[in-house]
Amino acid sequence: MQTLSDSSVPVIGPYIGGAFLLDGAPTIDSVNPANPSDVVARAIVGGADTVDSAVGAASAAHPAWSSLTGPARADYLYRWAGQIQELSAEMATIVAREVGKPIGEAKGEVARCIAILNYYAGEAVRQTGDVIPGLAPGSLQYSLRVPMGVVGLITPWNFPVAIPLWKAAPALACGNTVVLKPAETSLRCAVLLAETAKAAGLPAGVFNVLLGDGPILGSAMLDHPSIRAVSFTGSARVGAMVAERCARRNIKFQTEMGGKNPAIVMPDANLTQAANLVAGGAMRFAGQKCTATSRVIVHKDVQDAFLPELVAAIESLKVCDPLEADCAVGPVITEVSLNRIQAALKDVGKPAYQGRVPQQGFFVPPTLYTEVPGDSPLAQVELFGPVLAMTTAEDLDHAIALANGIEFGLSASLFTRDLPSALKYVHRIEAGMVRVNADTTGVDPHAPFGGVKGSSSGSREQGPAAKDFYTEIKTIQINP
Ligand code: NAD
Repeated sequence: MQTLSDSSVPVIGPYIGGAFLLDGAPTIDSVNPANPSDVVARAIVGGADTVDSAVGAASAAHPAWSSLTGPARADYLYRWAGQIQELSAEMATIVAREVGKPIGEAKGEVARCIAILNYYAGEAVRQTGDVIPGLAPGSLQYSLRVPMGVVGLITPWNFPVAIPLWKAAPALACGNTVVLKPAETSLRCAVLLAETAKAAGLPAGVFNVLLGDGPILGSAMLDHPSIRAVSFTGSARVGAMVAERCARRNIKFQTEMGGKNPAIVMPDANLTQAANLVAGGAMRFAGQKCTATSRVIVHKDVQDAFLPELVAAIESLKVCDPLEADCAVGPVITEVSLNRIQAALKDVGKPAYQGRVPQQGFFVPPTLYTEVPGDSPLAQVELFGPVLAMTTAEDLDHAIALANGIEFGLSASLFTRDLPSALKYVHRIEAGMVRVNADTTGVDPHAPFGGVKGSSSGSREQGPAAKDFYTEIKTIQINP
């Protein structure tokens, strides 16, 4: 296993059938967005033929893997968690270097990986169905969860180890085998997952990782006849295409996509607490979480008091190299993202606050706009950067209407100490994850995760809910 102590830049390749394919020349350099001259890895990427090899390896491994008992599959997942634990410091550093995640959050992401694997090891033992009284006298009727076969996972770069695992762990626990296609900008992180899976002794072919171009590999996966289900996380644009292609083949799919998550601040809120949580939710990791707070909707009676608290809270977040221990805001992922965000802000007018950024790297300054109309692009379009749009509401009904007046519905927050207000919001808000006096990010790994409206195709990840996606139900009747 390569570790950070190697002085040379690691060359990585796809992981198929238990082996790393390292023939050929690397064609993608994965670089540190805080310091683009720091090459994290050189990747040998595969074409559509590697999809066929990986799916072949996963298909070959499936009969033996799915025949194992739940406790036997659990043992592998516990061992995988142990391998990640051993490598956790290096893994967090690579996450910070490869995707620009502040090191404190990168450590949290690695801890989440361990929690996810341990949780689904437990779930592997709990593959329970129902006993259903039959109409035929003396019969036994019951439902059984069965795996689907080979599942394809297509993942983004922003949680480069946790998202692949929060899909792979339940898939494997339920008896499926996996082909993962990670984002092009988080290849080293994905290979680290393969290295730890191998070190944990996962049988060859059970977990495979493809490296390469999204449209080429993703497309070949969506068309492959042996892939029986696809779990996708990423942009709404690609998610819509994935859903359409899977629906045409009549295979199961889940698409978890973007957000434009609102936080509502009521006059009775603890304003300092609200300001800190809104600032952190908006700016940490440069706003590059699907659950990041990108809109703050403030009751008119409190906006003058809230604004200075919010600006102070944003100012207190350190913008610097993600490897610095107290970093809160790092760079955005690529120069393309930097240019896209800058272009979107070009004609928006003067921000109420804009921070400063280091000279080097793809940094966008933390930026706050006030008096943003609810129907403007700034309040409607996911920017995926450290940019917060503040809008004024007349009352709670108006605030909820503004929060809901958008195509997305992933996560939402309300800051209040009033129970009736909280209850009204909980019932009316259109979001998959509904939070009160908490920021829009940071949902527990054992709780269902997903959105409504344009943020999701409706199924849920994480927690026990993930089993519903990664299994099919067989209804069995045995007559005497
Ligand atoms: P993206 O859609 O560009 O890429 C996601 C994945 O799709 C990558 O692996 C990419 O290679 C692949 N891909 C790209 N084109 C493809 C094609 N034609 N066919 C098949 N696969 C293809 O998204 P991104 O920039 O990596 O991630 C950011 C987006 O992800 C944001 O919109 C964010 O909100 C969303 N996201 C959502 C969640 C959630 O759980 N809802 C979590 C994290 C990120």
